[in-house]
Amino acid sequence: MIIIRDVTKTYTNGDVTTDALKNINLTIEDGEFIVILGPSGSGKSTLLNVISGLDTVTSGEITFNSTALTSLSESEMTAFRREHLGFIFQQYNLLQNLNVLDNIQIGADIGKDPLDGQELLKAVGLQEAGNKYPHQLSGGEQQRVSIARSLAKNPDIIFCDEPTGSLDEHNSKNVLAMLQELNNNYHKTIVLITHNAGIAEMADKVIKMNSGEITEFIMNKEKKSAR
Ligand code: ADP
Ligand code: ADP
Repeated sequence: MIIIRDVTKTYTNGDVTTDALKNINLTIEDGEFIVILGPSGSGKSTLLNVISGLDTVTSGEITFNSTALTSLSESEMTAFRREHLGFIFQQYNLLQNLNVLDNIQIGADIGKDPLDGQELLKAVGLQEAGNKYPHQLSGGEQQRVSIARSLAKNPDIIFCDEPTGSLDEHNSKNVLAMLQELNNNYHKTIVLITHNAGIAEMADKVIKMNSGEITEFIMNKEKKSAR
C-alpha cells in the first residue's frame, strides 16, 4: 500500500515559482489499477514522479508499506526503485544497438528476482522478434518490448506516463489489454497517467487533477475490458 500524505511540490526557477502539487492526499492499495486524468499542466507527471521517487517532494510524506520514501537517501531510493518499481513511458527508450532480447535483459539484470526474457517476449506476442533490432519494429511492437523490459525485473508496481501517447488506436488497445492482464492475472499495482478519458474505464479508481489539486475521486465498480 502506498500512502501519500499532504504532499506538495513547488518548482522554483529564478523568480518564478509553480505550485505543481498542492496538498495531495491519496492511498493506493496493492493490486489496484489507478488512472490519473487531467489536462496538460495539471500536475500528473509531477505526482507520478514524486510517488515513484524520481523527484523529491517539497513537503509531505510518501510511504510504501512501512518504508517512508521521503526519508531515504538518493542511493537508497535508487535501490528501492530498482527492486520494486517498473516504468513505462510514452517514449520507448530502447537501446538501438542492442537486439530486442538484450534490451529486455537490461531490465532483468537490475532485478533481484527477474523473469525470463524469452517468456516475456512470448507474453507480449513477440516470440519471433528476439534477434531483431528496435528500428526493425513498428511503434506498437517497440512499446511492447519496452513493456517486457520494464516487467523483466518483476516489479510490484508499474508506473505508466501516457503509455499509449504515440500509438494508434489498434496498438493502444493491445498495450492497454496487456496492462489490464498484468493487473488482473499478476496482481501488479498500476498507476497510469493520461489525458485520454476513455482509458479511465479500465481503472479501479480514477483521480482527476486540475491546477495541482485532486478535484475528483471516482471508484469504478464496473471496470471495462480493453478488448
Ligand atoms: P501534467 O503532467 O499534468 O502535464 P506537470 O506535472 O508536467 O503536468 O506540470 C505541472 C506544473 O508544473 C505545470 O505548470 C508545469 O509547467 C510545471 N512544471 C513541471 N515540471 C517543471 C520543472 N521541472 N520546472 C518548473 N516547472 C515545472
Ligand atoms: P503494428 O500493427 O504493430 O503497428 P505495423 O502494421 O506498423 O504493425 O507493421 C507491420 C510489420 O511491419 C511489423 O511486423 C513490423 O515488424 C514491420 N515494420 C513496421 N515498421 C517498420 C519499419 N520502420 N522498419 C522495418 N519493419 C517495419
